[in-house]
Amino acid sequence: MSAVTTYFNNIWLALSTIAIGMKITMKHLWGKSVTTQYPDQKLKMPERARNRLYVNIGDCIGCDQCAMACPVDCITIETIKSTPDQDLGTTSTGQKKKLHVSQFDIDIAKCCYCGLCVPPCPTDCIVMTDVYEFSEFDRQNLIYNFSIMTPQDIEKAQEKLKKAEEEAAAKKAAAAAAVAAAKSAAAQAAPQTAPATPAPASGTQTQPPSTPAPDAPGQAGKP
Ligand code: SF4
Ligand code: SF4
Repeated sequence: MSAVTTYFNNIWLALSTIAIGMKITMKHLWGKSVTTQYPDQKLKMPERARNRLYVNIGDCIGCDQCAMACPVDCITIETIKSTPDQDLGTTSTGQKKKLHVSQFDIDIAKCCYCGLCVPPCPTDCIVMTDVYEFSEFDRQNLIYNFSIMTPQDIEKAQEKLKKAEEEAAAKKAAAAAAVAAAKSAAAQAAPQTAPATPAPASGTQTQPPSTPAPDAPGQAGKP
């Protein structure tokens, strides 16, 4: 193909592709507008859209499974054990709560909205919401605190646990001491002399049990 032919072919190709593109534009130019006038109009999020996380802390048992599933470590959970005399109630799914959730933070600025933290939750208390407008000027505001414990509540729970642990340790030590004392008393009450074994008289020798003589040759195997 000559250079001149190629030149005119290229011109034709450019004009025809522009015409095809403009045909689509013209088709929509006079048609009904489909532009969503955000933020006055908002699109409804699909049912399984992944946006801002929410934690219903009243149902959280502090099991840490959501934090372990998070690939970017943006969930921080701290818990304090309850003492035997405390009843923290149950979740709406009927699980008994045994831990105070003293800290439950999600750094949503780090979150990649993978949704991996949601399925492992045994009480379904961490969920994706349809909220997608939560921009902030201060990055610190993107760390969401879900725990409802005050610093005073935390201190009180820690002190109570410490006291309960000290009492349990003291009880354990007392029980161990009682067992040791009982063993010692039993050892003292046992007879002091063991039954004496008669010593062989000097000069005598203990005879080994006599070994039966082997059968005479030719007798072996006979009934
Ligand atoms: S959605 Fe993904 S990144 Fe965000 S908190 Fe959950 S597990 Fe972590
Ligand atoms: S998995 Fe659920 S119950 Fe366990 S710590 Fe996370 S939010 Fe709480």
